[in-house]
Amino acid sequence: MGRTGVDPLIYLDYNATAPVRPEALAATTKALTAVGNASSVHAAGRDAALAVNQARERVAALLACSPNELIFTSGATEANNLALRSAARPGQSLVISAVEHPAVTEAAVAVADAAGSKVHTVGVHRDGTLRLEELEEALATSPALVSIMAANNETGVLSDLDLVVKIAHEAGALVHSDATQLVGRLPIDLRRLQLDLLSLSGHKFGAPQGVGILYVRRGTMPAIRPLVHGGGHERGRRPGTLNVPGIVGLGAAAEAAARCLDQEAARIRSLRDRFETAVMTALPGTRRNGHPDLRLPGVASLTFDGLPADAMLAAMPAIAASEGSACAAGAMEPSRVLLAMGLSRDEAECTIRFSLGYATTADDIDSAIRHVIDAARRVHAALYPNTTTTASGTARGQEGPRRHDA
Ligand code: PMP
Repeated sequence: MGRTGVDPLIYLDYNATAPVRPEALAATTKALTAVGNASSVHAAGRDAALAVNQARERVAALLACSPNELIFTSGATEANNLALRSAARPGQSLVISAVEHPAVTEAAVAVADAAGSKVHTVGVHRDGTLRLEELEEALATSPALVSIMAANNETGVLSDLDLVVKIAHEAGALVHSDATQLVGRLPIDLRRLQLDLLSLSGHKFGAPQGVGILYVRRGTMPAIRPLVHGGGHERGRRPGTLNVPGIVGLGAAAEAAARCLDQEAARIRSLRDRFETAVMTALPGTRRNGHPDLRLPGVASLTFDGLPADAMLAAMPAIAASEGSACAAGAMEPSRVLLAMGLSRDEAECTIRFSLGYATTADDIDSAIRHVIDAARRVHAALYPNTTTTASGTARGQEGPRRHDA
C-alpha cells in the first residue's frame, strides 16, 4: 500500500474499512468477467446462482449458522434497518446502547417514530462495557426489541452477548446485534449464541465495499418486512438483482478469515499491545480507552493529553487513523461513544483510534510508533512552547493549548 511522492501510507484504519483480501479480489474479478443474473434460468444465470450459493455457505460456516438464515444486503446499514423495521412491534420500545453506530441509532429512531413508540438508551461504564442493570431495568418496564452491538467501532469494546441474550429472552424480547466490527476478527458461533438477528458488513474483513448480510434465526422471527419493493430476490425479503461480484468476494473473504481466525487475532493483538505499550511509555500522559481485555484485538483508542487529534493526525500524514469525532451539521462534534464513557469533550477531541488488521505487519507498527511519538513531540512543542517537556501532557506551559476548534 503506498502513495506516490510521499512516505508509504501505514494503514491503521481497519475499523473504517479493511483492504480487500487477495482471495476476495480474485473471486470478485472472476465474477466481474463472467456474465449472468443469478435469477436467470439459463446456464450463465445458473452459474451465477451457484456462485452466490457457495458464498452463502462460506459466510454460514464463518458464523456457524444455516445458509438459508442469511439475506444479502448492501452492508450493515441496510441490514440494521431491515432488522429493526422487521422485528419492531407496535407498542414495543426499542432498547439500544449509548454507543451504537448511527446505522442503529438512526434506524431505531425512525422505526420508533413510525410505530409511535420510544427508544430507550442503555448506558456504558467508564471502560465502555454495557450497564447490564440498566438493560434489565429497561426490559422490566415494557416489552421491547433489543439491539446491542457486538463490538464497538471506536474502542473495540466487546459486549457480553451471552448475557444480553439471556436477559432479553427472559423478558420475552427479541435480540439483534450489529456485529459489523466483530465478524471476521473474532470467532462467533450462532448455533450456541441465541441471537435472533445479526448484521455484518463485508468490507470490515476484506470483502469489497457495498455488500453485507442480515442473519435471521430460523423459526423465531416474524416475517421480514422489505425496505424496498420489487421482485422475489432473497425470497422476497430483499428485492433487486443480486450483487454477484460483491457477494462472491464476501464469501471468499469469509473463508479466508475463517481459515486462520485465532492465529490472526493473536498476532494482531500482540502487535496492538506492542504499539500501545511503546507509545504510552514514551508519552506518559497518554491514556488507553476501553476495557483492557474485553475488546477487539486490533483496536487502540488513545487519548493524547492536551494534543488535539486533528493536529496529531496532520503531524503524521504517513499514518491513516481516525479521530474520535465526527462531522455533524457542518461542525466537528466529539465522539458520542467517548462522551458516553465519561470522557470530557477535550479528552474526546484528543483521542485517536488506530485499528490494525490482517495485513498489518511488525514493520508497520515499528514505523507507526516512531511517527506517533515524533508527532506528539512536535505538536506539544507547537502548543506549549514555554515548557521543556518533550512528551505529551506531563508539563504544560502557562498559556494552555491552542484549541483547534477555537
Ligand atoms: N455498524 C458498525 C458498528 C460500523 O462500524 C459500520 C461501519 N462504519 C456500520 C454499522 C455500517 O456499515 P456499512 O457502512 O458498511 O453499511
